Amino acid sequence: CGIIGYLGYREAYPIIINGLKKLEYRGYDSSGIAIFYNGKYSLYKTKGRVSELEKKIFSIKGTTGIGHTRWATHGIPDDINAHPHVSNSKELVLIHNGIIENYHAIKIILLKNGFTFKSETDTEVLVNLIEYIQKKNQLSLEEAVRISLNEVIGAYSIAVIEKSDPDRIVIAKLGSPLTLGINEKEFFIASDPTPFIDYTKNAIYLKDGEMAILRKDKELDLRKIIDNHKLNPIIKELKI
Ligand code: GLU
Repeated sequence: CGIIGYLGYREAYPIIINGLKKLEYRGYDSSGIAIFYNGKYSLYKTKGRVSELEKKIFSIKGTTGIGHTRWATHGIPDDINAHPHVSNSKELVLIHNGIIENYHAIKIILLKNGFTFKSETDTEVLVNLIEYIQKKNQLSLEEAVRISLNEVIGAYSIAVIEKSDPDRIVIAKLGSPLTLGINEKEFFIASDPTPFIDYTKNAIYLKDGEMAILRKDKELDLRKIIDNHKLNPIIKELKI
């Protein structure tokens, strides 16, 4: 299983698809990509090899993108359970490697608050938790991600993009691997540096409990996920 992402000025699709092939050795049962262009995104997911995914796609324009190879932990390997996963409003798009162990308790709260779920995955719960917390408190994506991850028990490397602002990717790591490649005016993310080593030797291995906000034409913003700043009353609600 692996994750990959690109934010910069080059066409993202070839970087994402070739990167997924380079991560194939990690093993997977399904794969998917999302490429962002002009306030919209194209999303493709399929069971099986990355070459199966490639067959579904002609060409996609866009300079922001994410891709994922899945090793199923919650829900069978199929097209619906494959990543990226999209929030109920279709505004947030997320890829995740790892396991959200307390996903069931969170899912019950989200169901009570009107959320619906298409897949069996723990990941779809996480993307909707971020949306719930973001909307309820009118937060930036990065604040919503940080607060959500403080509620989560488990392991993850994630990348999240908001449809209305595709010039920003929020990434975070705990337990699962995540590396960041940095060039002038572009960022690469991947489970290991092999997908971006031809573009940049400037790599950062994120540490557990770290998140980063990647923005086009801006400096890297690296933050800690875990701290004592928790918002109420979501937190109390979540402790059931
Ligand atoms: N737990 C997630 C799922 O089953 C992610 C699995 C992975 O690391 O690929 O969809």
